[in-house]
Amino acid sequence: MSEPIIILRELTKQYDQAIAVDHLNLTINKGEIFGLLGPNGAGKSTTILMLLGLTEPTSGEVQVCGIDPVSHPVEVKRKVGYLPDNVRFYEDLTGIENLIYTGQLNRMTKKQAREKALQLLTRVGLADAAHQKTGTYSRGMIQRLGLADVLMKDPEVIIMDEPTLGIDPTGAKDFLNLIVRLSREDAITVLLSSHYLLQVQEVCDRIGLFVKGKLIAVGDIASLSQELFANEPFRIEAIIHWERNSSWDTISALKQLLLQINGVAKVDIEDERLHISATQDVTAQVARTIVMQGIDLLALSKREHGLEDIYHRYFESESIQ
Ligand code: ADP
Ligand code: MG
Repeated sequence: MSEPIIILRELTKQYDQAIAVDHLNLTINKGEIFGLLGPNGAGKSTTILMLLGLTEPTSGEVQVCGIDPVSHPVEVKRKVGYLPDNVRFYEDLTGIENLIYTGQLNRMTKKQAREKALQLLTRVGLADAAHQKTGTYSRGMIQRLGLADVLMKDPEVIIMDEPTLGIDPTGAKDFLNLIVRLSREDAITVLLSSHYLLQVQEVCDRIGLFVKGKLIAVGDIASLSQELFANEPFRIEAIIHWERNSSWDTISALKQLLLQINGVAKVDIEDERLHISATQDVTAQVARTIVMQGIDLLALSKREHGLEDIYHRYFESESIQ
């Protein structure tokens, strides 16, 4: 049974000039890893601040772990770990000293806090840097320490704003995998915001696409893709090779022939790469057509529609309106 742990109803935040979050409705279930995905200025950070009771909604309702953060911000902070996009630590203190400090703020004894801090530093891969001042940490290490810091209070929910900002792609991937592993081990719900589509696609159970304060689609990648590409669910990519001296006519003739295949909806040619969208699986017919034209077929693959296609589709339709 899915059990709601974050509930937003008609949540709205209006600043003087602009509406940052516009009648947002969303339910996130216990144990889920949810990605709030959208470009800069979409309203992701504002939504997160409202979930934590750090800024007040103009209208609408929020509930986190059964608590209303507007009237009970302190109680919410006890259950929710928050990693802001610009997380900072006391630079003159070591990693472990920073965590002990957090533990003590959360009513642990120094001994309890030290034990837990050591455990967590190991879990996030910072055991070797535990006694190093955090002023010397890299951005990636700071994020790992941030995760350990958030876990010091055994949260039910972790909320992270752009957790991979400023980390190189490999480091970002490792960090996201770490978040997933730790949250699964401890059955923690995770809400993270990002504008990096591909990273989020790999780690989130569900994704919300957020544009100009509005959630324009929610679901897992498979259902978002199905919903969006119902009319042309098959996508084929072919890599071909033609002689440099063959004329452009050869290519446009090939395009015309491919478009005549029953089910082919669209053909894009980009140098020696063909992108074909179709309403049915036309892989064999595509291969035959290319070869019959005397053109070398070097590779042929069927591709699922990914998050990138989904993102562009929504953003394109958004900009048309
Ligand atoms: P994101 O985190 O998705 O980049 P934000 O939530 O930071 O988006 O911002 C959403 C919109 O609200 C933007 O247009 C931003 O300029 C505006 N905004 C954010 N914070 C404030 C503020 N304190 N005062 C006025 N406008 C703000
Ligand atoms: Mg932001």
